[in-house]
Amino acid sequence: MDRVLSYLTFNTRQFHELTMRSRVVLSQLPLSLTVVLILVGGFFFHRDLFASQPFVIGIALQAVLLAACVVVPWDRLPYPAFLVIPLLDFIPIGLMRYGAGTVITGVGLLTVFPVIWLAASGRYPRAALTAGFLAALGIVWVPVFVTDTAVTSQSLTQSFLLPFIMLAIGVTIRVMTASMMAQQKMVEEKDGALQVLLEESARRERLLDTVVNSVDIGLIAVDETGKPMLTNRKLGQFRVAAGGAPDTGESELRLYQQDGETVMADARRPTRRAAEGQVFSDYLIWWGDGPDQRVLSTSSRLMRNQSGEREGSVVTFNDVTELVTALNAKDEFVATVSHELRTPLTAIRGYLELLTGTPGLEPDVASGLEVVSRNSERLHKLVVDLLATAEGAPEIVPVPTDFSALVRERIATAELRNANPLVTFEDRSESGLVALCDGARIAQVLDNLLSNAIKYSPAGGHVTVEAAQSDSHVTCTVTDQGSGMSEEELQGVFSKFFRTSAARNAAIPGVGLGLAISKAIVERHGGTISCSSVEGEGSVFSFRLPLAPADSPGARDGLQEHRLQSQDQ
Ligand code: ADP
Repeated sequence: MDRVLSYLTFNTRQFHELTMRSRVVLSQLPLSLTVVLILVGGFFFHRDLFASQPFVIGIALQAVLLAACVVVPWDRLPYPAFLVIPLLDFIPIGLMRYGAGTVITGVGLLTVFPVIWLAASGRYPRAALTAGFLAALGIVWVPVFVTDTAVTSQSLTQSFLLPFIMLAIGVTIRVMTASMMAQQKMVEEKDGALQVLLEESARRERLLDTVVNSVDIGLIAVDETGKPMLTNRKLGQFRVAAGGAPDTGESELRLYQQDGETVMADARRPTRRAAEGQVFSDYLIWWGDGPDQRVLSTSSRLMRNQSGEREGSVVTFNDVTELVTALNAKDEFVATVSHELRTPLTAIRGYLELLTGTPGLEPDVASGLEVVSRNSERLHKLVVDLLATAEGAPEIVPVPTDFSALVRERIATAELRNANPLVTFEDRSESGLVALCDGARIAQVLDNLLSNAIKYSPAGGHVTVEAAQSDSHVTCTVTDQGSGMSEEELQGVFSKFFRTSAARNAAIPGVGLGLAISKAIVERHGGTISCSSVEGEGSVFSFRLPLAPADSPGARDGLQEHRLQSQDQ
């Protein structure tokens, strides 16, 4: 009943949610209340009404029907069972109308209530409209047939309008109800689709949550202002390991640079860089203090909305402490071993030089010494390369250097040393190029590129060297027609100890350090080095160095001698 009351207080949205019984009572109430009104009016002003038997029976029947609405368990009966009430309503209305006669006119209009109910129910629309029409006709015609001795066309058409008015009302209500029902169906369908979408989105959220929290990588998504939108459990563990709480902000944690001691500036912190829209990979940070310090490799990627605008970034944190420790141990080992090898090797080379210079040596002794000397040179180069790799970033002293002359000279030296004399060289360099570089170090780069071009070229190959000015840089390109490399091999060509399988299979001497060292040297100059290659056709190595400023001393006239005390032996 509470719900009925709430409906009566115009909380109409709940009607379809009410129980069937409440709905039936509610639908019957307007008629019952109007009947009560007639009763009250009759009691005060037309007591004689109650002398009419049909009127009293009609009132009683009305009360019985209302009671039936309340008592019958409509919810348990088949849905359209309630239609019996509006159909039965026509009987008391007919009796009341007949009983009221001319004392209270318009009682027949009560027919409108069951007619509306039938039409609005949406069930059996045609039958409902016909029933309403016939019932209204019955209400006006039955008394005529019962009372009049002579039924005339006048008596039959006297209240003929009522059934048609009821039919019109019924049709109007039916049309409105049909349209409302169609709208409701549409809303329900949309609601269903929305529910499905909501469930799908909740499922995806659970999936994302599970994936994000099960990976062994710290993860944070930030918006453009750097405000965290999502973090995972692993990142919380990293924060705790760094002395914070799982939700401590990165700005409050102590992050260090490569030496593990210099505090990382705010602007260099990964989350801050990501919030500014920077994209980076394998950016190493030292996280936390003391023995618990970890090395994390961080990467960032942009998140974009549907229209492609940036709406934040995702940063990942991968613990690479073990890897970095192992790499450091390896570098230390390589440095120690090569250092230990260099001292005896220097003595061997010194004595060899003395011995090979000794006059009157037997020819087979001299040629034996020649072999020993050649191999000790190879060993020496290897040790020097290993030491250079272990020492990290090479020291350079950049000065304005005649780059064209340097290239000419390194080609000449390569031609002299050429172990593959069928390979020819061509120098297409512009003259007068002045680069700001460390001549000895760049000579080392050129020597390495030229010796590779020879080593990996077939007999009769042609090597072209081209140096030219581009913008504020000098670009030098070494092109060969050698074995070339596959796409996959190209990816690792500048990595330490990298060798292609072709080089290993052909037992071409080398340990795969030359290009790694060359890259370190060029990058130390603020330049870049790259390689393109087609397997079986040849390779192109090219590097860029800054041009010497035009007004620098020695840049244009009186060029400083490029310093070439390199590995030339
Ligand atoms: P290495 O001493 O082995 O030549 P590098 O670092 O100079 O060491 O070169 C690394 C590897 O790259 C080589 O072993 C070879 O497989 C490949 N490579 C270098 N230069 C060339 C080239 N010009 N043509 C084909 N492969 C090359």
